[in-house]
Amino acid sequence: MLGRVDGEHAIRLRGVVKRYGPIPAVKGLDLDVPEGTCVGLLGPNGAGKSTTMRLLTAQAIADEGELEVLGFKLPAESKAARAECGVAPQLDNLDVTLTVEQNLLVFTHLYRIGRAVRRSAIEAALELANLADRRHSRVDKLSGGMRRRLLIARALIHRPRLVLLDEPTVGLDPQVRQELWALIDALRAEGTTILMSTHYIEEAERLADTVMIMSHGEGVAAGPPADLIAKHAGRTAVEVYGSPSQLAETEAKARTDGFQTRRTGTSIAVLGVDGADGKAPDGERRPANLEDVFVLLTGEQID
Ligand code: ATP
Repeated sequence: MLGRVDGEHAIRLRGVVKRYGPIPAVKGLDLDVPEGTCVGLLGPNGAGKSTTMRLLTAQAIADEGELEVLGFKLPAESKAARAECGVAPQLDNLDVTLTVEQNLLVFTHLYRIGRAVRRSAIEAALELANLADRRHSRVDKLSGGMRRRLLIARALIHRPRLVLLDEPTVGLDPQVRQELWALIDALRAEGTTILMSTHYIEEAERLADTVMIMSHGEGVAAGPPADLIAKHAGRTAVEVYGSPSQLAETEAKARTDGFQTRRTGTSIAVLGVDGADGKAPDGERRPANLEDVFVLLTGEQID
């Protein structure tokens, strides 16, 4: 069937470049999202995550490279691709004068869901987003977390094969973020393919099967979080606390001894100390994590 030739990759990007005037927002990006997986695009502000998302929905057109979404080539076949995608944008564009249910109803029309199944599509979306008891609430009466859940529910109304979530939990407090994670996890469990951009490391680590770390418009590493950690940060780190001068001294010595280090506020982490017993500094041992990898590869601190 047209548009489903591949069957393996829901998204395939090769050498994608997008410039805004002289600024290259995306510089030669390769990205694969296998069907049925959740892929996290992780990067600091300005890394090019939102631009990549906009390219995938054909809101922006690439200057160079190949883009395929569900086997459809972009931008030529973007309309067909969009019909099978669900998109939850970073900025909430719900109609605040309508109720939860009315917002969903509008989308059943936009996606041409037949009258016979419209009701059940709305019920399923309400159920998944845990908003059934708020169906008659006007959107401007909802909390930020509920609005974000509705935004995702709305993206799912036509049972898309691929869901694009642009920073799904940005600006939410940690407890509400966890509710959203449960929702995204439920989607994963149903086998929906998900591409999610985020600058929260924990979000990517918890939800994504594969992570692509972006920095300055480029993909600097890709793989399952555990593989990225093992490859770039080793198994174990030592956290050393002390005064600024002690930290500087520890850092200099560790680097001379061939270790990678990263600063974390009042401490310094010396990475990859497995099997280097003699040389490893004294301190608190902990497993290496994705944050270590992120900081090593992007040079950025995270909030
Ligand atoms: P954030 O997390 O802050 O949204 P991001 O990783 O999504 O960051 P982008 O929004 O894709 O990054 O931006 C990548 C680069 O492209 C930045 O330098 C940004 O200033 C620039 N950029 C993005 N959109 C435009 C635009 N419409 N016009 C000009 N420059 C843009």
